[in-house]
Amino acid sequence: MESSRADHQAQAQDLLASLLPDTGKSIRLGFTGTPGVGKSTFIEAFGLSLIKQGYRVAVLAVDPSSTRTGGSILGDKTRMELLSKDPGAFIRPTPSGGTLGGVARRTREAMLLCEAAGYDVILVETVGVGQSEIAVADMVDMFLLMLSPGGGDELQGIKRGIMELADLVIVNKADGDLEKSAIRAAADYKSALHLMRPKTSCWTANVVLASALKGRGLEEIWQQVQNFQQAMTDSGELDKLRREQAKSWMWAEIQDRLKDHFQNSHRDKLRAMETAVRDGRITPAAAARDLLKDMTGE
Ligand code: GDP
Repeated sequence: MESSRADHQAQAQDLLASLLPDTGKSIRLGFTGTPGVGKSTFIEAFGLSLIKQGYRVAVLAVDPSSTRTGGSILGDKTRMELLSKDPGAFIRPTPSGGTLGGVARRTREAMLLCEAAGYDVILVETVGVGQSEIAVADMVDMFLLMLSPGGGDELQGIKRGIMELADLVIVNKADGDLEKSAIRAAADYKSALHLMRPKTSCWTANVVLASALKGRGLEEIWQQVQNFQQAMTDSGELDKLRREQAKSWMWAEIQDRLKDHFQNSHRDKLRAMETAVRDGRITPAAAARDLLKDMTGE
């Protein structure tokens, strides 16, 4: 699926089309938080507890920055060591795809493959930077935001938009010396959430205390996930959400492919125009219009 060779891509698309009837049966969870908040510790503990209950768990990642640096948030062997060895789990580091659009496209496809392969829970992890959260929120059923006990101070630093995407807020590290501040932080986050418009009428985002290290909150979080899935299914919102996501996936594909095509077929002129825009010899809008005219003939 991840190969960019044209013949491989053709096979991959045929495969996806034939598997489509077997997809859609898992619960798709998006998971975000700033580096160091405890995401991998949590996903490992959560994943292992789900496997113990008989579920199969797939962990995928969207981290466009790792394509640039050559590293990967899941590539590091020490991350999720137990989970990665467990036959009930499948862990895939972020695919290489250059742009966020490319990475997101491949992750969506990997998600469908995992569903067809019988995984019950798909966890898509994103690093808490840039636009990747929005791309992930747009491919999952439920979006979980992990925060640290920093509380009010941290709240200032979180982009409001990310908080608005959350269906569940997890305050991690609620253990030992940090427990008291985690409780205070949870109250802060709760009141911040109250001021926001709910994403859907059938679900109100909650705040849950957790300790990935001590296993605290895992059961409650899984209960929240199941309640969410039930509420979204009963109200018909889940079906509506997935339909909308399919539509926006199509538009993302169109955008990406048009841009690729454009960049490949107008390489020389593009470079000349970029220089002209940089030098202030032509306005960006006029340059774009001129270049697009070449492509569309209008
Ligand atoms: P990530 O960058 O978000 O994936 O964070 P990691 O899972 O790598 O964790 C970062 C650090 O926080 C590690 O040193 C963990 O041991 C520690 N950590 C993770 N979860 C907890 C927790 O629940 N309680 C405490 N006290 N430390 C934690």
